[in-house]
Amino acid sequence: MLHLYLTMVVGHQKNVVFEEITLARNLEPKCKQCRREGEKLFLKGEKCFTDKCAIERRNYPPGQHGQKKGRLSDYGGQLREKQKVRKIYGILERQFHNIYKEADKRRGITGDNLLQLLESRLDNVAYHMGFGSSRSEARQVVRHNCILVNGKRVNIPAYIVRSGDIIEVTQNARSQLRIKSAIEAADGRNFPSWIDMDVKGMKGVFKAKPERSDLSTMINESLVVELYSK
Ligand code: SF4
Repeated sequence: MLHLYLTMVVGHQKNVVFEEITLARNLEPKCKQCRREGEKLFLKGEKCFTDKCAIERRNYPPGQHGQKKGRLSDYGGQLREKQKVRKIYGILERQFHNIYKEADKRRGITGDNLLQLLESRLDNVAYHMGFGSSRSEARQVVRHNCILVNGKRVNIPAYIVRSGDIIEVTQNARSQLRIKSAIEAADGRNFPSWIDMDVKGMKGVFKAKPERSDLSTMINESLVVELYSK
């Protein structure tokens, strides 16, 4: 997998639980990532909802031996699940492992804590509010200083949003076409129950951390926990 490492700074800031402010990026083509996992990870915004989706056309892993069938070992299944979750949320290995360690330290079920931490990241919340058509676009919107949290500019994608926080698009960014069209598209698909959205005002309230039952069933977080518990 290709990564581009530009710079790495470890930041300790209120509400940022793990290291971030890193410009390392996964440069593997997005549709290839879905084909590797054999399912839609919704990494490309609107294209994912059309028949141009690569999974609709070629649902087998990329590469010369992609169409050969093979059985995965237990370890292989756990590893693939972890890679899938990382790709869905667009997080690199080291940072993902740090999030897992934080989830493990917290009270309650580690798998649930892990998903709640991932869902509470500012880039993910901005995505669910429709400020970007994909998580990677929402992350860019955050990085480009287009988002306010409780009236203050926050440009750290890993910032952990708390219950009751108000997230909104800055006045300057409200005219951006990409944000407008992403909100319209998200509005058409309905917003998650844990978000209270004011589409016209381009702002929303993160009501509470989502419960496991509110989240997608496409993730089997217990396999990730098994992998890291070894
Ligand atoms: Fe994945 Fe979206 Fe590409 Fe389909 S269009 S393969 S869901 S990134």
